[in-house]
Amino acid sequence: MTNQVHIPYGKQHINEEDLQAVATTLQGDFLTQGPQILAFEKAFAAYVGATYAVAVTSATAALHLSAIALGVKENTRVITTPITFAASANCISYCGGTVTFADIDPQTALIDINAVRKILEAAPKGTYSGIIPVDFAGKAVDLEAFRKLADEYGLWIIEDACHAPGGFFTDSKGQRQLCGNGKFAELSVFSFHPVKHIACGEGGMITTNDKNLYDKLMLLRTHGITKDAEVMEENHGGWYYEMIDLGYNYRLTDFQAALGISQLKRADKGLERRRAIAQRYDAAFNGTAVNTDIGKFDEGNAYHLYVIQVPERKHVYDELKRKGIFAQVHYIPVHTLPYYKRKGFSAGDFPLSEAYYTKCLSLPMYPTLSDEEQDFVISSVLNSLPS
Ligand SMILES: *Cc1c(COP(=O)(O)O)cnc(C)c1O
Repeated sequence: MTNQVHIPYGKQHINEEDLQAVATTLQGDFLTQGPQILAFEKAFAAYVGATYAVAVTSATAALHLSAIALGVKENTRVITTPITFAASANCISYCGGTVTFADIDPQTALIDINAVRKILEAAPKGTYSGIIPVDFAGKAVDLEAFRKLADEYGLWIIEDACHAPGGFFTDSKGQRQLCGNGKFAELSVFSFHPVKHIACGEGGMITTNDKNLYDKLMLLRTHGITKDAEVMEENHGGWYYEMIDLGYNYRLTDFQAALGISQLKRADKGLERRRAIAQRYDAAFNGTAVNTDIGKFDEGNAYHLYVIQVPERKHVYDELKRKGIFAQVHYIPVHTLPYYKRKGFSAGDFPLSEAYYTKCLSLPMYPTLSDEEQDFVISSVLNSLPS
């Protein structure tokens, strides 16, 4: 039997401890909403430096609940980036709100604060309600600057930090500010999908420092139902509850939370490895036709992805695939997806995002990628470049 090469762009890592943690929880009294949930929330909040965390079924659910908690409804206008996963925008559409996009800074592929400012300046104050910046590829958005702009216009911020648990930016005072620490954004969301840093199968987390928002999210996660005597209108006895808001079932299971806790223990080691892989890519492509602007080493980058930009991207992608290397493209600009085109967007609306899309390619990036595998990826990329 030949050893076929199969190197994906991202991959989860499950070890013996993870298996034990899940097995122990499965044999316990709780399958859903047991003690592991609260323990995971506490550990995750501590990891990102936030006061509160709410575990949910996915980051998509986290974004949905965040939008509801911040009052998004029909005609609410919210600004996000075209270079993200569709869910960052969909949460506004779920609530009947209107998505506006702001183009990217081509140097980082992050939403360009100047583009956002232009949109805000061009409309009467009060037109927009919020911004959803995305820590794309793991690079932290400068939320201090976004907070300032948001305050000028009375906007809230949902930070989509799905790519960046453990990532940080350095603020104007030289302090490191961890993604999701609750100091700048009202709410931050994370994903525990297997390709993300911490895998729970499916899963998501919302972090915040705002007690009111925390209480609202806890209620919305489970049907809007409460048993809290302080907020109920009546109380008929031990069985009694009230549904005081229209919520959902977005509960994570206890055994997923157990897996999350176990994975979180290795998160810092994983980050360290991701950053080392990024530095090796940087060095290897230096002076070649491979553009490494997006992935260029930054100590605060959590490196969910290592994105390069190459000419004739499809050729490079196909050549890598032929060799068993499954690179990916992040992302097809959201405004060019048919659903958003039907809402009135078209190709040409956000030229920097669209130009970026024609060249971007995400190379394998995960902690268990070996140096040998990475060397094979590097030589395969260089050999596939058009001469
Ligand atoms: C993965 C991802 C999501 C959605 O996460 P799920 O947990 O799969 O729902 C949202 N936004 C971004 C930027 C993502 O990468």
